[in-house]
Amino acid sequence: MTDIAPLIDPFARAISYLRVSVTDRCDFRCVYCMAENMTFLPKKELLTLEELDRMCSTFIRMGVKKLRITGGEPLVRKGIMTFFEGMTRHLDSGALDELTLTTNGSQLGRFAKDLYAAGVRRVNVSLDTLDDKKFADITRWGRLPQVLQGIEAAQKAGLRVKINAVALKGFNEDELFTLQSWCAEREMDLTFIEVMPMGDLGNEDRLDQYWDLKDLRARLGERFTLTDLDERTGGPARYVKLEETGQKIGFITPLTHNFCESCNRVRLTCTGQLFMCLGQEDMADLRGALRASPNDDRLEDAIRAAIALKPKGHDFDYSRQGVAGQMSRHMSHTGG
Ligand code: SAM
Ligand code: SF4
Repeated sequence: MTDIAPLIDPFARAISYLRVSVTDRCDFRCVYCMAENMTFLPKKELLTLEELDRMCSTFIRMGVKKLRITGGEPLVRKGIMTFFEGMTRHLDSGALDELTLTTNGSQLGRFAKDLYAAGVRRVNVSLDTLDDKKFADITRWGRLPQVLQGIEAAQKAGLRVKINAVALKGFNEDELFTLQSWCAEREMDLTFIEVMPMGDLGNEDRLDQYWDLKDLRARLGERFTLTDLDERTGGPARYVKLEETGQKIGFITPLTHNFCESCNRVRLTCTGQLFMCLGQEDMADLRGALRASPNDDRLEDAIRAAIALKPKGHDFDYSRQGVAGQMSRHMSHTGG
């Protein structure tokens, strides 16, 4: 696996982390992520499971050590376990350090054991509220008990669960300590995500829902002693430890620029487009290169050419006037 030069971008950042969206479909319709009447891509546009395998295996050959599978909802993609099982060989060979996924949890009851058997050890489950009614409101189509059962099944199967909650003003502000203590009781870490101006959802005004994580952190600090952790993941997350519970709390603030210089990641959509930066429109079509030839040379060239274009940083910015650097694509497309 070392006969091929690693992926280094123009700003000397090694690309070791690939996030792959395996479907744009989902069994939920979270208000900040999707419109209620979404038009999904025709199936023929999607990379097949075999193509996803080839794509990921090529990135792994080129130095990707961590693979995160996302979507849409990754576990609603038909046959997705075949893909996970295929990736096991890269874990076994040591080429891949970690295989993880981000999920809404609805299908974990069905798949937790198989995921563990395939080599997955950690999952991120998105959960914004512990209130049945609020959960149904925010996800439109989701039901909380099913997700809670999924989380339990994941823990039983031996998977470490981290909860990701989007911080929404006027929605889960009052659940800050409920979520924190619920996670502490179950030995789960918890990360808050600042809501991002993605997609054009028409009826929702995300500026109104924006809850500054500095404020959230200050509120936590009123009850707990917070110690900053040095841990850097190469992404937009920062962590603190709550001294009283030992729990790790994360803050993902993608709107700030302070993480771009260490950014080690790129994102692949379910149609084979590679986005070099979550906040930029620049992308490369890798599907064409992949389908053009059964051997991977063209694909490797296309990946290298794409990485050479990875920008220094992104342009998200909330200002008093409105949202600058707003992206027109949905999170379910690039996969969060
Ligand atoms: N369906 C899976 C899930 O919900 O975990 C994976 C895909 S989802 C797009 C990935 C993450 O993006 C979720 O944690 C979700 O809460 C987050 N997300 C979606 N839209 C967002 C937005 N506008 N701002 C911030 N986070 C968002
Ligand atoms: Fe589906 Fe995840 Fe988007 Fe919610 S956040 S609609 S669960 S893809």
